[in-house]
Amino acid sequence: MPDAAALALDARALSATSRGPWTSEQLSRVIVANLAGAAAIVGGAYGASRASDTQQALLWFNIGVGALALVGIANARWLLQSRRIFTLGRNIVLQEVRVVLAGAPTPSSTTASGSPLLWSPGTHRYHRPDCRFVQARPTQPVTPAMVAAMPLQACEVCRP
Ligand SMILES: [Zn+2]
Repeated sequence: MPDAAALALDARALSATSRGPWTSEQLSRVIVANLAGAAAIVGGAYGASRASDTQQALLWFNIGVGALALVGIANARWLLQSRRIFTLGRNIVLQEVRVVLAGAPTPSSTTASGSPLLWSPGTHRYHRPDCRFVQARPTQPVTPAMVAAMPLQACEVCRP
């Protein structure tokens, strides 16, 4: 499960690449590759059809096949980049949904008065230090990363 630090990393990676896959640069590169490839394939077919002997026809045919392969590589690269960006975006959206469902906004780890909120291992709630649910129990101070990663919910009794 991604924690807050990993999420921040994802967000940085996304903003670094969020201009693609529809940046004019990447898009024009893939369009140019397709146009050039199409021209080479048509040229290869035309040349092969007009070739005077088998040797020459084979050469033109190879040019067409090579162009087809290059176009395929260009398109595959573009698709892979797009998929990576979509995956990053989806992870961030999912994480946000999970935090919302878990009852956030709670990446605060202290009460209004500044005393640390407490969590009892094995449970999914965090509490004010004076809550009866954390009396006589082993507890740990809650960190914002824990709230984001677990996810923890606010106790309904002490309402931290
Ligand atoms: Zn409580």
